[in-house]
Amino acid sequence: MLNRPQNRTCVECGRPYGHTDFAYHAGKIENGPSYWSDRGLLCSAACSTAHYEKREKAGDAMKEPAPDPFERG
Ligand SMILES: [Zn+2]
Repeated sequence: MLNRPQNRTCVECGRPYGHTDFAYHAGKIENGPSYWSDRGLLCSAACSTAHYEKREKAGDAMKEPAPDPFERG
């Protein structure tokens, strides 16, 4: 397995991408997720905040925004 942000669940709470509570860009699943990191997807602002705080405390804060894992040409 490659260590790439391709698993389609929230890395914080495990909510599956596609779930109605997942936050999508502009509210539309076809636009992709609203939140993610280089570790994977994040379902909500709350999980995003929790994730970044955890990373910061662990001394592993992200320096730059991760590339959009769903970006396609
Ligand atoms: Zn979550």
